[in-house]
Amino acid sequence: MFQGIRHTGSPRGRGEASVPVDKELLDILICPSCGGDVEYRQDEEVIVCLKCGLRYPVKDDIPVMLIEEAQKPASA
Ligand SMILES: [Zn+2]
Repeated sequence: MFQGIRHTGSPRGRGEASVPVDKELLDILICPSCGGDVEYRQDEEVIVCLKCGLRYPVKDDIPVMLIEEAQKPASA
């Protein structure tokens, strides 16, 4: 069976591979649950709310700021 393997690399081209998530984007992002500031954890590829601790996944360098997609902090 032929499997169509497509290489869907994220669009780069500005030579800023070391900063996958836009810092200006992070500045305007807030937690949709509590409205608190969020922080990008690059090593874990999550956006963490500094206020309520919800962890939002980052898919293809795009922060998924959805409460239903977020993980609650382990120490709840
Ligand atoms: Zn929050």
